[in-house]
Amino acid sequence: MTRTIYVNGCYQSFINALLHVEDRATLFADAVYEVVEVKAGKLVDQEAHLERLERSLNEIRLVTDFSLRTIPFIIRETVRRNRVKNGYVYIQISRGCAPRDFIFPNANETPATLIISARAKNPLKLDEKSKKGIKVITHPDLRWKRPDIKTTGLLASVLARQTAIEQGAEEAWLYNEDKFITEGAASNAWIVNTQDELITHPANQSILKGITREGVIRITSELNLTYKERPFTIEEAKEAKEAFITAATNLVMPVTQIDEKSVNDGKSGPISLKLREIFHEFAQISY
Ligand code: PLP
Repeated sequence: MTRTIYVNGCYQSFINALLHVEDRATLFADAVYEVVEVKAGKLVDQEAHLERLERSLNEIRLVTDFSLRTIPFIIRETVRRNRVKNGYVYIQISRGCAPRDFIFPNANETPATLIISARAKNPLKLDEKSKKGIKVITHPDLRWKRPDIKTTGLLASVLARQTAIEQGAEEAWLYNEDKFITEGAASNAWIVNTQDELITHPANQSILKGITREGVIRITSELNLTYKERPFTIEEAKEAKEAFITAATNLVMPVTQIDEKSVNDGKSGPISLKLREIFHEFAQISY
């Protein structure tokens, strides 16, 4: 089966799909994106992802020449054409193609570029990984000051994640100048303290307000747990009872080691695993 990708109104074969060299995504990372999970052929929390996409577009003042309401139809068709049962949909919108200039091109003459792709992923592999948990490293947060906007300008995150991989870890937990953890390179960071309280950084301009993070917050009451949105330090994280990350690509993934320090004796924590187990029961599922 040939994979297809949607680019500006056409479904193209994946290997032949082209983006113009002067697309502003390439020149300036002048683009925003979303990643939505596909589970059993259905979309998980699609509405919330598309609301965040709209927010990101507004924050960078990108006006599209198409209605965002068409996106769910294109997503569905892309998933269907690629026969993705479990995996992810990637959506990217850039400020279109124009001669290189820092100033916004005239929106009336420059249609935005919309790309939508779908990729299959075996969910069992992630479930297996969650039983063992993952290692994270701590790394300075070198990103720009608006990581609440989901832009494709991800070089600092790429470098942090690469460093983590090179050190035998799976994710980098980014810390600010005061040594507080903000979030992961591509995930939100959580700890559980000895009172079984879940703690994660407030959703201000220093982090991306994860849709999976919001899902976990919703579930806490189901499990009679409490959560606190407050910054926590590297030291506090290393002393935590449990730790985990959240992201659409990982759901809830237990963390069993932070730098050289084991968390929960190097085993996936029961609260993290329970949150993972019930996550989809409380997510918004659309066809
Ligand atoms: N934080 C960052 C920096 C991310 O890149 C991501 C996901 O890509 C997340 C958090 C988690 O967001 P979500 O749960 O919406 O996937």
